[in-house]
Amino acid sequence: MILAYIEIADGEVKKTSYEVAQMSSALALKMGIEVMGIAFGKADTSKLEVIGNYGVSKVIFVNTETTINHNLAEIVVEIANKYKISTLIFPKSLMADAIAAKVSIKMNAAIINNVSEMPEVGTDFIVKRSIYTGKAFAKVSLNSPKKVISLRKNAIKLTPTSQKASIENYSGFVSSNTIKIKETSKATGDILLTDAEIVVSGGRGLKGPENWHLIENLAKALGAATGCSKPVSDMDWRPHHEHVGQTGVKVAPNIYFAVGISGAIQHLAGVNSSKVLVAINTDPEAPFFKAADYGIIGDAFDILPKLTEATKKIK
Ligand SMILES: Cc1cc2nc3c(=O)[nH]c(=O)nc-3n(C[C@H](O)[C@H](O)[C@H](O)COP(=O)(O)OP(=O)(O)OC[C@H]3O[C@@H](n4cnc5c(N)ncnc54)[C@H](O)[C@@H]3O)c2cc1C
Repeated sequence: MILAYIEIADGEVKKTSYEVAQMSSALALKMGIEVMGIAFGKADTSKLEVIGNYGVSKVIFVNTETTINHNLAEIVVEIANKYKISTLIFPKSLMADAIAAKVSIKMNAAIINNVSEMPEVGTDFIVKRSIYTGKAFAKVSLNSPKKVISLRKNAIKLTPTSQKASIENYSGFVSSNTIKIKETSKATGDILLTDAEIVVSGGRGLKGPENWHLIENLAKALGAATGCSKPVSDMDWRPHHEHVGQTGVKVAPNIYFAVGISGAIQHLAGVNSSKVLVAINTDPEAPFFKAADYGIIGDAFDILPKLTEATKKIK
């Protein structure tokens, strides 16, 4: 049996978890075994039933507000043992990464992350994963009977059906005795950078923090999160948690706007899993244009207000 790990944020199943559900169910079909899901968080049943659209017809729902990965990993292992789970598939997120790592140790399972497509199943179980910050791929054979797979964002094209999942409430006890959360508060902005469907990021081309309202206005109009290049956070124009790249946050939104960012390899390493890259830069030779799907050669100070106005009109 395969277990799909489902993440919930703000009462909604995250898109990456639909990708996990779809891959889990397709893999189960290929292997001739069954699939089920486990979801943690707070969400209405109607939201969880949608997981069935992606082929997972039964979901154990752990209705909890705890975000302590240690406690959640224990429940995953308990369910995995109960249902004789051989393969667990996780979405890519900080929280899921931590849980997947703990689960793999507790279950003595092989773990592989950044998986970018459906595994090949035959005499060997072969997984394709991205390596070197997305610049290359490696095919890896997993020989352990128990496997933990972490799926890269945007690796699966969703093809929903109208099937609904049945939801079973977890009847066990959610322990919180080891670590207790006293308070949680969001960093900045309404949308978390790592979860955002759209990101508007600014670089040194914005000239200073006093101009960031241009980035924020476009982000607000698009319903996007804001990011920045490393020098921008190093100079304290923006907080460090917004720094995107090899040494910062890695993002994989549907659209990534790079405004006044040159496109250094270290920045691109954090954005190259995005579906569509848009570069706005005065310099037609800026390296970002080589990576971008769309490019606007021009001054951010002219273009950003126009894009913001145009977005507001369309919306
Ligand atoms: C070990 C290491 C790790 C690193 N990790 C990261 C990382 O994780 N993330 C990261 O971002 N960087 C990282 N860097 C730094 C990286 O190499 C680049 O220096 C950095 O990304 C450049 O930032 P930038 O594009 O904002 O600035 P610049 O390179 O100065 O580019 C500014 C761009 O703005 C354009 N511009 C100027 N005025 C305007 C205007 N009015 N309108 C539109 N465009 C304009 C310019 O043409 C230029 O292309 C790392 C470097 C090292 C050595």
